[in-house]
Amino acid sequence: MFSNLGHDKYIAAFPATVLKVDSKKCVKCGICVKQCPNGNISFENGTITFGRGCAACSRCMHICPKNAYEYMDKTFEQYDLKQKSILEQL
Ligand code: SF4
Ligand code: SF4
Repeated sequence: MFSNLGHDKYIAAFPATVLKVDSKKCVKCGICVKQCPNGNISFENGTITFGRGCAACSRCMHICPKNAYEYMDKTFEQYDLKQKSILEQL
């Protein structure tokens, strides 16, 4: 999608350059690994590792149940945590 703009290499490397996982918060549930649409996240020696095939969808950041993801060394408000679940709103 971004290849015509010359951004494809930057986007693909996005998580490796700006995302980190706080190993103290991570419970190794594997949800982010399973939910990445590009299979770009894996465990290496028990640590979350990113490949170079990111689609910059930010699903990993928002789906982590422990909010262990950091963007540029800072935690952030997760979209899913801002809202009650649909069932809770009924
Ligand atoms: S879930 Fe999305 S933002 Fe996270 S590594 Fe995978 S493609 Fe990139
Ligand atoms: S979703 Fe969060 S807690 Fe689970 S493995 Fe990924 S970073 Fe760790």
